[in-house]
Amino acid sequence: MADNTYDVIIIGSGPGGYVTAIRSAQLGLKTAVVEREHLGGICLNWGCIPTKALLRSAEILDHANHAKSYGLTLEGKMTADVKDVVARSRGVSARLNSGVAFLMKKNKIDVIWGEAKLSKPGEVIVGKSTKPVVQPQNPVPKGVLGEGTYKAKHIIVATGARPRALPGIEPDGKLIWTYFEAMKPDFMPKSLVVMGSGAIGIEFASFYRSMGVDVTVVELMDNIMPVEDAEISGIARKALEKRGLKIITGAKVSKVEKAANSITAHVETKDGKVQQITADRLISAVGVQGNIENLGLEALGIKTDRGCIVIDGYGKTNVPGIYAIGDVAGPPMLAHKAEHEGVICVEKIAGLPHVHPMDKGKIPGCTYCNPQVASVGLTEAKAKAEGREIRVGRYSFGANGKAIALGEDNGLVKTIFDAKTGELLGAHMVGAEVTELIQGFVIAMNLETTEEELMHTVFPHPTLSEMMKESVLDAYGRVLNA
Ligand SMILES: Cc1cc2nc3c(=O)[nH]c(=O)nc-3n(C[C@H](O)[C@H](O)[C@H](O)COP(=O)(O)OP(=O)(O)OC[C@H]3O[C@@H](n4cnc5c(N)ncnc54)[C@H](O)[C@@H]3O)c2cc1C
Repeated sequence: MADNTYDVIIIGSGPGGYVTAIRSAQLGLKTAVVEREHLGGICLNWGCIPTKALLRSAEILDHANHAKSYGLTLEGKMTADVKDVVARSRGVSARLNSGVAFLMKKNKIDVIWGEAKLSKPGEVIVGKSTKPVVQPQNPVPKGVLGEGTYKAKHIIVATGARPRALPGIEPDGKLIWTYFEAMKPDFMPKSLVVMGSGAIGIEFASFYRSMGVDVTVVELMDNIMPVEDAEISGIARKALEKRGLKIITGAKVSKVEKAANSITAHVETKDGKVQQITADRLISAVGVQGNIENLGLEALGIKTDRGCIVIDGYGKTNVPGIYAIGDVAGPPMLAHKAEHEGVICVEKIAGLPHVHPMDKGKIPGCTYCNPQVASVGLTEAKAKAEGREIRVGRYSFGANGKAIALGEDNGLVKTIFDAKTGELLGAHMVGAEVTELIQGFVIAMNLETTEEELMHTVFPHPTLSEMMKESVLDAYGRVLNA
């Protein structure tokens, strides 16, 4: 029988949990992960990855529909087969799910299947899973364990999050969908209302629009993707509307009436006017909430705030020996934040010198709609609200050779600098492939690069990345190709 004592036990094998486990094992700590449902968590199975697979099908369809503008003729019309599009997306998830099993085995990390609960500091009780367990196909992880009591000096809670529901508009899985149903439709609806225009809502809206669905997005705030820079969000909105998406901002879905095979959403604007929109389905995308229930947090006196576990910059909770990382530890609820938070946490546990606490100001955010949106750091409005004197640079996709050659000439790269110090405070982009470009600015911000250093950096030609340099030059009145 396997020894049930570890240095580190991690509850949850999402991108936070499994990456933390690997780093923990690399540091020589005896490590186990408890998982109740699927290796890779929401990200690999129901989030980041399967959505990008769906969006890739959408992108290819969009390109095919514009083939003529590239001098290409397609015999007949390209159409999407929902079953095959979904099957491809599920296949991508399954492959990565098995990949996590392989990584656990390779790093000699025990996988314990079941539902974990903290019984006391240093002890985890694993009971029968409340969810259907999705065992990875191949390879099956070695050292698979199950229900029982396990001990560890350090316990890291990485239980993630689930869809938030609005009272009265609770998802029912049939007419009102969450991302689970939207990810795996068994038919292509003719019309959809998407409630909420954060990254999840807009990505699904963009996907279904490409599939030919009549989509209406309803957003409470005045701008779609409300955390983004208002100018960028405005450009994205126009582009999405040009693709036929209907967008209503400053409005809420106040009521949903259900018929046998359709819904009618009552959409109320700020001035109290109500319009009714009937559609086949409604996707509820009003955010996520941390999985903090049934973990034994209350009994141990672990502090929570607005549905998330309260931690310091190293993932420590208020109870010694218990840590939290990822979505369950609060926003931004992003996979790369979860991973980084976990690495910091376990490096601190291992006693590594010079572990830097989490800096949430330098975490990029990406939305993979068409056109894409990506950002890091302060928006123009936030920089001004902080009372900073700023310089703003802008460079349009329409002036970039590569963008024009690609047929992707709609977009903007916007940079925000501290006028006094030249510090790069924020970068915001909308347009083709910006989710791949943003990392250049993230590295610059992490290295505390100044405008001078960016201007002295040589960017390859012809690339979309040249717009990053031009935007910096523009902030200082030195733009070249515009
Ligand atoms: C549709 C969608 C698209 C997204 N796209 C992106 C994107 O493009 N980029 C990005 O960065 N983020 C994206 N996200 C967010 C991303 O998925 C999350 O931020 C990320 O999964 C959080 O990782 P985590 O490890 O904290 O938790 P999770 O991935 O939620 O994993 C938690 C794991 O813990 C397990 N668990 C929970 N409770 C217990 C228990 N008591 N015992 C045992 N196991 C338990 C769960 O089964 C789960 O496997 C998206 C999310 C959604 C829903």
